[in-house]
Amino acid sequence: MRQMDLLNRLRKILKMDITGSCFCGQIEYEAELDGTAVSICHCRDCQVFSGSAFRTSGIVPPHRFRFTRGTPKIFEKVADSGAVRRMAFCAECGTHLCSLPAEAEGEAGFVSIRVASSHQFKQLQPVLEFFCCSRVDWLSDLEGATQFDGMFPRSR
Ligand SMILES: [Zn+2]
Repeated sequence: MRQMDLLNRLRKILKMDITGSCFCGQIEYEAELDGTAVSICHCRDCQVFSGSAFRTSGIVPPHRFRFTRGTPKIFEKVADSGAVRRMAFCAECGTHLCSLPAEAEGEAGFVSIRVASSHQFKQLQPVLEFFCCSRVDWLSDLEGATQFDGMFPRSR
C-alpha cells in the first residue's frame, strides 16, 4: 500500500494537468506538464519580457498544450541562434502566456509556458536554471536545481 502511494505521488510529480489564464481572463489555456521540465531562465530576453530578474517556464510538446479561451496576440522573436519563437500574450492586459515554436517546426518544436499564470504555480518548483551567465548578482543557485550557463543543447 505504501509503495502504491509513492508510485501515485511520483506519477503526480512527473505528469501534471495545469490550467492558467492571463490577468484579465480573456485568454485561458490547459496543458499536461512534465513536472521535471519546470525551469528558470535568466537570459536578458526573459528578464526584459517578464519585467523581472528571471522567468519561470514549463516545457511541453505542442500536442500537450492548447488555448481553451480567446486568441493570443503573437510577437515573433528571433534569437541570436536564428531560432524563431512566437511569443503569445494577451492583447488586452499584456500577460505573457507562452512561447510557441515557428509554424514550420510543428511537433518537433516545444511550447514554453510562463507558469506564473498557471493556477498550479505554487506546486511547480523549478529544477533547472538556464543562462546563469546573466543572472543578477543578488541571486544564488536555487537549491535542488541544476544550473546551466546557457541553454540545453537542442536534442529533440
Ligand atoms: Zn488578458
